[in-house]
Amino acid sequence: MNVKSNKKRKTTKVKKIGNKFTILCVIPSVVLMAILCFISISITTDISCKSLKMSMKSQAEGKVVTADTNIDNEMRKANIFKRRVELAEIITNENLSDAERKEILCSAVLEISYVLNCFSDVHILSTNDNMYIGKSGVTEFNKNVYWYNESKSGKKDPYFIASPMSEEENKEKHMFTYIVPIVYGNDIVGQIVLGLDDNYVLGVFNLATNFKEQVWAIISQDGEIVHHNRGYNEKTFEVLKMKHENAVNGNNLDDSRTSFNGQDYIIHTKQINILDNAVLLYVVPVKEIFTQYYVTAILIVVISIISIFIIAVCIRLFTKKIVNDINDIRNSISNISKGDYAKELEITSNDEIGMLVDDINGIIKKLRYQAEHDMKTDYYNGSAFAIKVRNAVLKDKKSSHAIIRVDIDNFSFINDIYDWSVGDEILIKVANILKMSFDETAIFGYLGNDIFVVYVPYTEIDVLITRVLKASGLIKSCEQRLQIVAHFGICDIKDANDDISIVCDHAGIALKTVKGNMLVTYAIYNEKFDENHKTQKFVESHKQIALDSGHFFIMLQPKCNIDTGEVVGAEALVRWKNPDTNEVISPGKFIPIFEKNGFIVNLDRFVWEESCRILKSWRDKGYDLIPVSVNVSRVNIFHSGVVDYFDMLVKRYNISPDLLEIEITESALLEDNENRLREVIDKLREKGFRVLMDDFASGYSSMLALQTLPFDVIKIDKALIDHIDISENKEFVRGVVAFLKDLKKKIVIEGVENEWQKEALKDTGSKIIQGYCFSRPLCLEDFEKYAFGKDEIQSEDE
Ligand code: C2E
Ligand code: CA
Ligand code: CA
Repeated sequence: MNVKSNKKRKTTKVKKIGNKFTILCVIPSVVLMAILCFISISITTDISCKSLKMSMKSQAEGKVVTADTNIDNEMRKANIFKRRVELAEIITNENLSDAERKEILCSAVLEISYVLNCFSDVHILSTNDNMYIGKSGVTEFNKNVYWYNESKSGKKDPYFIASPMSEEENKEKHMFTYIVPIVYGNDIVGQIVLGLDDNYVLGVFNLATNFKEQVWAIISQDGEIVHHNRGYNEKTFEVLKMKHENAVNGNNLDDSRTSFNGQDYIIHTKQINILDNAVLLYVVPVKEIFTQYYVTAILIVVISIISIFIIAVCIRLFTKKIVNDINDIRNSISNISKGDYAKELEITSNDEIGMLVDDINGIIKKLRYQAEHDMKTDYYNGSAFAIKVRNAVLKDKKSSHAIIRVDIDNFSFINDIYDWSVGDEILIKVANILKMSFDETAIFGYLGNDIFVVYVPYTEIDVLITRVLKASGLIKSCEQRLQIVAHFGICDIKDANDDISIVCDHAGIALKTVKGNMLVTYAIYNEKFDENHKTQKFVESHKQIALDSGHFFIMLQPKCNIDTGEVVGAEALVRWKNPDTNEVISPGKFIPIFEKNGFIVNLDRFVWEESCRILKSWRDKGYDLIPVSVNVSRVNIFHSGVVDYFDMLVKRYNISPDLLEIEITESALLEDNENRLREVIDKLREKGFRVLMDDFASGYSSMLALQTLPFDVIKIDKALIDHIDISENKEFVRGVVAFLKDLKKKIVIEGVENEWQKEALKDTGSKIIQGYCFSRPLCLEDFEKYAFGKDEIQSEDE
């Protein structure tokens, strides 16, 4: 992904997926649905029209057939065919009187009307007697009635005849009459006249009754409208009449669709055989069919709209979910880019998004792992360690909690003489050993260089110490090329709110007290360290004020002849007096700090100058001058211009350079810079200074270096003579002294505290002693008394 495209995206407006989806999916599907709806409505309307016509047709046919069957059944019920034979006998029986015949015919009328349901009016006509008998009695027969027609009278089988419609149509009048001729031989002697009930006609022929504006009519064979439905629509009736006129004018009455006054009508015809071949004609406006189907259409549209709406909502919800998921993923990625890997995504869908989230969570985990761990040792880094430890402490309320700080002795030395890769190898080995030595409740951190920290919850300190010692033992034997020594500082976490980094520092403070000590492996931090810590803080913050305000001063410790006690020299030792408490702070508490922060440069120069000033004052006072030695910190010895500075000082105070002796500590040799050191010593000696090796045999010096380095005097460290009462030790000291003498070195033995040490040293051949057995370091005034006046004096501790 290039920067350009990113920029481009920022300037153009972001197009939301949801909106895109609406434009690309929802709108087209709505339009498509609408089109489909329209098409389906048109198709269904068309199909509906056709099927309506079909259904009208079949209904009509069905009903006609039913009517046919019904009437046939009625006739059978009334036993009408047998009866007409009997009636023929009666009408033609000349033995019967008119009154008798009339009586028999009357009862026959009653019997028939009793049996028949659908015929409301029953008459029997006796042609010979001109007698027309009904339920209400005998009426005179009028031959002009529509059904008594010459053309029809020849028929011997029963038939229907429809009455023509007249203007003054009487609703009660029978529109259809069923004529059953009464036959005697070849003659028709009478008729059973059955008036078809109007309701029955409606029941049989009222077709497609749902249409309000429908008109139907029955047209007789003579072309007359003999019957039509009631409450019809005038306009439709117009159409029907028009159709009827067309038919009368010789055009066929066929099924069709016709337009009239801008409206469409469907016309249907059906010949009804049973009704004397009358024709059923009916007309329905298409509009009305449509209104019926409009309801269906509107229903379809409404259902479609609701479905589209539901589908759109579902799609919208679905896209919203996808968009939300995408936004979650975006936020998470943006957090990752800001370096926040704390949260993993919580989407658990079992689809592509779920897979994407899994992948991203994988990346988050990996990045978090990398952010929290040191890749070399696989340990937590400082900040992650602090967080994990805090959580562990909060969780475990029962145990005690310790931080163990582990430091490898002289690790930089290992890195210097071997390759870096060897250093790394050793670090990894130590890391693995530590992991092995503590159980799974421990948390491991690496603070860089050679510093490891381990958090261990514990109940018994002894168990913890045993593990520390075990780890120490394993570390010692982990490397064949050299012995690795690690020291351990232990500090408890007292409260879950303790700053873990401070606890680590405290463990470090404890560790420093045993670092380099081959006999002690670990130290446990306690309140005393707090005191030291306070002093440290005080030293850090007050050093410059102290120097400017003269709170640093010099004490002089005599160097004496072992036999005579004569003072042959002095060592200038710096002190710091805190004027607020009157406490005198010993150099052991501030020199290591100043060596770290560089202030030792200023302090040493102050002491050197002060010593020169003292020497000058002695000369001015006319004392027998004795040399004063000053300490040069390792930091200063390689400081460029140190030789010139000494030279400048002796010149400024006009004193002989051999009166200012220069003590260089044996530990300055550690830095593998023998040649540089030799150079400095040579230069100092060239300028006339005498150079002393301080703290010889305190642990670092190599005899070889001693042989080649041009020191004038060797100061044997207190450590060597501390146990001089042991005979082997005494022999060893004797050997060392002899060896140094062979090298033509002068010797000073330091730290001789008591008489028996002094006595023991006498026969080792050593001559000059600096120690409490003669004197502790003295203030200037006292020293002068001690060295030059021999008056009563007071030492620093008295
Ligand atoms: P050092 O140079 O080895 O000084 C000798 C230390 O041994 C002094 O401690 C002295 O008081 C102590 N001492 C002498 N005789 C005896 C004895 O019989 N018994 C015991 N227990 N101690 C004895 P001090 O004055 O506390 O100095 C400690 C160290 O501080 C010095 O060790 C030196 O390394 C450093 N130091 C002192 N003043 C200066 C200074 O001005 N500049 C630098 N760079 N370091 C200084
Ligand atoms: Ca010294
Ligand atoms: Ca010393």
